[in-house]
Amino acid sequence: MAELLVRCQAAHDSGEHLRGVELAEQALSLAHDATDSTEVPQAYSLLAAHRWRLGQFELAVMAAREAVKRWAPLGGRQECDTLCLLAISYSELGLHEEALKCATAAFDKSREQKFDAQMVQALNRIGVCFDRLGDPAQSEKFLLQSLGQARELNDHNQVLGALNNLMATAISAFYHFRQRGEKDLSAAALQRARQYGRQSVSLARRHADAYRLSVTQGNLGEVLGLAGEYAESHRVLEETVQQAREHGYRAVELRSRHNIGEVLIQEGRYEEAVSVLDATLAELESADQETTRMRVHSALYRAHKAARRFEPALHHCEAYHALELHRAALQSHAQARLMVNRIDVEKALMDGERARLEAELQRLRSKELEDEKRQLEARTAELQRDTLEDQLTRLANRRRVDEDLPRIVARALESNAPLCIAVADLDHFKHVNDRFGHAVGDAVLRSAAQIFRVKTRTRDLVARIGGEEFLFVFVDTSPQIARDVCERLRCAVEAHPWEQATAGLRVTMSIGLADVRVGDTPAELIARADAALYEAKRAGRNQLREASTGSA
Ligand code: GH3
Ligand code: MG
Ligand code: MG
Repeated sequence: MAELLVRCQAAHDSGEHLRGVELAEQALSLAHDATDSTEVPQAYSLLAAHRWRLGQFELAVMAAREAVKRWAPLGGRQECDTLCLLAISYSELGLHEEALKCATAAFDKSREQKFDAQMVQALNRIGVCFDRLGDPAQSEKFLLQSLGQARELNDHNQVLGALNNLMATAISAFYHFRQRGEKDLSAAALQRARQYGRQSVSLARRHADAYRLSVTQGNLGEVLGLAGEYAESHRVLEETVQQAREHGYRAVELRSRHNIGEVLIQEGRYEEAVSVLDATLAELESADQETTRMRVHSALYRAHKAARRFEPALHHCEAYHALELHRAALQSHAQARLMVNRIDVEKALMDGERARLEAELQRLRSKELEDEKRQLEARTAELQRDTLEDQLTRLANRRRVDEDLPRIVARALESNAPLCIAVADLDHFKHVNDRFGHAVGDAVLRSAAQIFRVKTRTRDLVARIGGEEFLFVFVDTSPQIARDVCERLRCAVEAHPWEQATAGLRVTMSIGLADVRVGDTPAELIARADAALYEAKRAGRNQLREASTGSA
């Protein structure tokens, strides 16, 4: 068994974690002939460490718990190390209270026994737990303690770890204050993040391996971007990408490319952001980087939305939330299993208070999910509205017509109800643009839309289906009445006081009207209205023409 444990530790040091799991399990199968009381707990600790590196957090928790149980009567540094490992595994599963309990236990035990390195590590863990629990101020306090002690011990790895976590916590604080509109506090947090970042990069340059250096640099690049130092941020991030690529650190590379996209968004360079992010996303499809993928979807959502492309924005918004919900579901399943497991083990300890607290926690968690779902629905509705609405005039757009008209026509034909549609086109509109400018042209389109809104019923569908071309759908309306409505619309446009806003401006429009016939498709109906419009134009514009009467 001892020999297996040595090989298992070696597998950990060389990063062969699948092999490591195998060796640890083999060692455990020989537990009955362990010669030394530390062998079994050691095997569980190693199993947990390998599982953690493999991202199998639930299994890591289970192994670490077994290890902690067995280390408890023995004490020692390994007990503290394992408690810290259990803490980070809980954190990964979103069980932050559990994580904090373990990290605190690790701290108490290491202080009692004067294990300095373990104490530094435990303080670091406690700090991270507070950050995850949404308390960046507490987090920073513990991390600074960890930093101070790590410096005293001259332990570069721990100093670097503390600085990196301090940078992350300061970023959390920045978002935290920014959301509350506290400008000074958020600026100060960002400033601190930058200082921690600078310190950790310079330390990493001197002491760290290439991997930790590139992680640290990537973080600094992100901070510089948030601080608005775009040129410097690009420089640092590009360098990180370069280094990560040379060494084959895929995760770091992809994360940094995502951050480049974020910086471009902040700069308002949406097209470049989209192209960087699209390329990153394409490579993420094959990589096992769910968090980065979520972030890239979120960034693409914001970039497309800012560029007013709502369809891809909607797509990325949905992809983001699908991943998020998937992850939340996986997490809460793992949480439920671990809770049940623990209740089994600790039945004796369970009392009413504990059950009450757990119920409360569960309630809070499901409320969070509920809130998130509601926000998503609101955002989706907003985007959906945007994709069906014309941005300039806020009338319906062609897509909305394509979606709704088939149903409207089918219903009219089925119920034998009258239905008319009209196509209207502003006259010599090119001339309006040429003479008064495009901005005036746009204003004319908006005013015309407003006239249409006011002069039609809410039940009528009014859409902008082309540059200066509009479609009206009059439901339950006979041709006689539709004719009157169209005349009224035409006169209203002609009589509008255009001159008041722009001297010399005159606007008129031509209209083609058609009523539905048995067997009509929407396209045939529109084509007849179009033909009538063409007649109206040919006959001199500013007039209404009807398609030769229907009921064929
Ligand atoms: P006609 O009476 O035959 O319809 O003449 P017209 O000049 O209106 O017809 P044409 O289709 O040749 O030109 C339409 C013009 O509408 C061309 C384009 O510059 C302008 N236009 C299209 N969309 C917009 C827009 O969103 N805003 C502005 N300001 N102009 C637009
Ligand atoms: Mg026109
Ligand atoms: Mg036209």
